[in-house]
Amino acid sequence: MATVTVQNEMNVYESADARFEVAAKILGLEEGLYKYMKYPDKEITVYIPVGLDDGRLEVFVGYRVQHSLVRGPGKGGIRFAPDVTLDEVRALAAWMTWKCAVVNIPFGGAKGGVICDPTKLSRGELERITRRYTAEIIEWLGPERDVPAPDMGTNEQTMAWVMDTYSMHMRHTTTAVVTGKPLDLGGSRGRREATGRGCMISCDKALAKLGMKRDGCRVVVQGFGNVGGMAALLMHQAGYKIIGLADIHGGLYNEKGFDIPAVIDWVHKERKPLPDFPGGGARMSTQDVLYQPCDILLPAAVENQLTSKTAGSVNCRILCEGANGPTTAPADEILDNKGIFVIPDILANAGGVTVSYFEWVQDRQGFFWRESEVNERLQDVMEHSFDEVVRYSETHGVNNRIAAYILAIDRVAYALKLRGIYA
Ligand code: NAD
Repeated sequence: MATVTVQNEMNVYESADARFEVAAKILGLEEGLYKYMKYPDKEITVYIPVGLDDGRLEVFVGYRVQHSLVRGPGKGGIRFAPDVTLDEVRALAAWMTWKCAVVNIPFGGAKGGVICDPTKLSRGELERITRRYTAEIIEWLGPERDVPAPDMGTNEQTMAWVMDTYSMHMRHTTTAVVTGKPLDLGGSRGRREATGRGCMISCDKALAKLGMKRDGCRVVVQGFGNVGGMAALLMHQAGYKIIGLADIHGGLYNEKGFDIPAVIDWVHKERKPLPDFPGGGARMSTQDVLYQPCDILLPAAVENQLTSKTAGSVNCRILCEGANGPTTAPADEILDNKGIFVIPDILANAGGVTVSYFEWVQDRQGFFWRESEVNERLQDVMEHSFDEVVRYSETHGVNNRIAAYILAIDRVAYALKLRGIYA
């Protein structure tokens, strides 16, 4: 079904585009709208001069891509990683457009990235990179323009620096310019857990749909950062059995199930590599964990984990994509043929951007909600969006991923038609 070739399958932009092409065709999207939505609105490249701690001056390359502002301000994270590329940021920006449309929140899609290795930079160096990057793109940012959030390699502290830099330039505190901030600076209760919680809500819905039980349901999670760690913890607390875990250092498998709070202490408090966890389990590579028999496989690390070469070895009933783009386009068909129920990334991990939206709303109101209120609203959004995707899948006779794209493109196209083309 996918139009991307196997030779090109690791290019995430091509992967995202291949799904867009399929969905646009099924939807019968008219040519002008198709062209409008296929390409980003704006791609900004900045060269960021930063004084390093050793006195040297280094220049880092940063990007901000605004894919679509049709349904509202741009929304999307900032990634700090050594392998960031413009194509990757482009793909992530487009996914944000579709993700915000799937969960029907009033944002467009954007994404940012800086080519740097945050593990090798001091706190001071990271702060200077963040502030100068923000200053370079400042005229395109703002609560009504483009609202960044954390992604890989950035966190609440990074967002506090973005907020402060923007506020200094505007001459007044503007908390709503970024989300994923610390609670004391206008962050939302429940934001830290939101992406993992959204994954769990999607899994609950999938289990109900497939007539499966939550208690003892075997889950493998790849990635143990914000998304994977939180999903594992919340699912463990809810009665799921987490039997496989992996991070960048490697994987662990234990069919009896892990004591997740103890693993969290080990990895996040003691800062030890996950595979060295002393509480039992067989060590294996981070890739091999993906092939262990389980009911739910939850990749929550990086892109391109399930490919035309590896998807055939997956042994699960449900694939819940916590990461963005963990499955390449050619792998979709393999998963379909295996009868795996896929909860695609633009639905499964949309809990994060949904609570980011709640944070933006709270900042603009200057009125903050109880955590239970945040979680309740998140549950409503995720459950309704899941039902919509499944309804589109059944109506159009397509898999859940293409259904999610059709739903999203349909919503963006409708808004675009209502607005008309300015000129
Ligand atoms: P993070 O930096 O907090 O954690 C990343 C985890 O992946 C770490 O445990 C790391 O060790 C592991 N990892 C990194 N490279 C790996 C590799 N090659 N193999 C195996 N494990 C590897 O990042 P995060 O915020 O949890 O984001 C993870 C994914 O989820 C990304 O694709 C991100 O775009 C996506 N996502 C994040 C959010 C959010 O709210 N944080 C929301 C939506 C989507």
